Amino acid sequence: MSETTYNYVNGEWIESESGDTIEVENPANPNETVGRYQSSSATDATAAVEAAAAAADDWASTPGPERGKILRAAGTLLEERKDELTDVLVAEEGKAHAEAGGEVQRAIDIFHYFAGKAADLGGTMKSPSAPNQNLYTRTEPVGVAALITPWNYPIAIPAWKLAPALAAGNAVVLKPASAAPGVAIELARALDEAGLPDGVLNVVTGSGSTVGTEFVEHDAVDAVSFTGSSEVGEMVYDRATDAGKRVQTELGGKNPTVVAASADPAEAADIVAGGGFGTTGQSCTACSRAIVHEDVYDEFVAELVDRAESIDVGPGADHEMGPQVSESELESTLDYIEIAENEGAALAAGGNTPDGEAVETGYFVEPTVFTDVDSEMRIAQEEVFGPVVAVIKVSDFDEGLHVANDVHYGLSASIVTDDHTEANRFIDEVEAGVVKVNDKTTGLELHVPFGGFKRSSSETWREQGDEGLEFYTIEKTVYDSY
Ligand code: NAP
Repeated sequence: MSETTYNYVNGEWIESESGDTIEVENPANPNETVGRYQSSSATDATAAVEAAAAAADDWASTPGPERGKILRAAGTLLEERKDELTDVLVAEEGKAHAEAGGEVQRAIDIFHYFAGKAADLGGTMKSPSAPNQNLYTRTEPVGVAALITPWNYPIAIPAWKLAPALAAGNAVVLKPASAAPGVAIELARALDEAGLPDGVLNVVTGSGSTVGTEFVEHDAVDAVSFTGSSEVGEMVYDRATDAGKRVQTELGGKNPTVVAASADPAEAADIVAGGGFGTTGQSCTACSRAIVHEDVYDEFVAELVDRAESIDVGPGADHEMGPQVSESELESTLDYIEIAENEGAALAAGGNTPDGEAVETGYFVEPTVFTDVDSEMRIAQEEVFGPVVAVIKVSDFDEGLHVANDVHYGLSASIVTDDHTEANRFIDEVEAGVVKVNDKTTGLELHVPFGGFKRSSSETWREQGDEGLEFYTIEKTVYDSY
């Protein structure tokens, strides 16, 4: 593929002034270039912010229902292009076709959801203490929002930031991840065709340290919404708050599933395998720790190994589990596998790159299970971001809960149990922004809030649901005497 995609700035498709491009390779076949995008400079990023700032007031004063109409039309265009977008996602990010289709559908649903919300924005009328007065609040947009997104959900995450930001009347600059920018750019194309005024959305591709830094630090940016690794996100948070901006960061995870003594081992293995190996383990909410009661440990391990070994690994277009997104992500997973073995964990399944014609090239790794893991091992503490599950044996519920909380992260957590009291204690005491009972750690509804605790989040504002609009709005209180 040789076509080059341009940045979208002030309603036009323009080349970077740098003259440089980024090539995106197919992770299932790195010899194949599947996209070419602008490797933009700080000057390009500045131009995008200036275009957004110039467009912000008119968009803010556009009636909410009008804004909603444009989001709805964009959602419909995305729906018409669902198959095409799914193919781009599989080619660039590598996930399995069904997973990619589900993600594209999520983006479509998010646009329709926030299209409705745009008409609901307003405020609250209160009873004044003085006579002859109207006392009320108005919801206003914050201004220019900078959105910085990761590669692992390359259309859903841009959509779940973009749709509420635009619905609330903000102008936006978006920097998608360099590994898989294609589907985020398609959001801009759909919005452009749906009639979004020039400058209200600007998409600039390029490195995080160049484009991202300019977005985070530019004076005209009022709010920064970042999703990505804890390492980068914490730096972005410090820089943005130092610059006086509103900031929201959603970051990494080390998500546990506790398997209680009352659990059915086969059902628990289905839940852990779904959470741990789905999307090649490249979800922030992926289950990477199974914390298992000793009474069901052996049976659970046998069931989990069975699931790991039966997964069909290969190119996402026609296999159950696709590759890792890049060579560096694959290397990082293989490094963790080596670290775990050196620390004394027992390799029970996987642990290698797979063999076979379908996986000859590409960043494939086998679904991997480690047993005999201690909570202090690096495999139990650090985010691996690949299909690797560490199984930790515990002797009672309290120990399981303690181990679940014994990490710096707190994104998603689940428990498999038949005991209602245990389930309720888990809900009360686990340190995670998402808690599930008898369900996998992955999978989110779009109409409820999402965000982490501890190092998984800045804990400032939640995304999605009604709460997803709060980051992009500010209240004005009006005392109107007559
Ligand atoms: P990442 O390396 O932190 O990158 C995220 C975004 O930040 C990318 O667009 C990246 O640009 C940009 N960036 C890099 N350096 C920057 C800088 N100095 N200033 C501003 N922006 C910068 O994360 P990733 O590898 O793409 O994504 C995987 C991580 O995201 C995992 O840790 C995962 O757990 C986390 N995640 C969290 C959630 C959540 O909601 N909690 C959801 C999904 C993923 P480049 O692509 O150009 O480097």
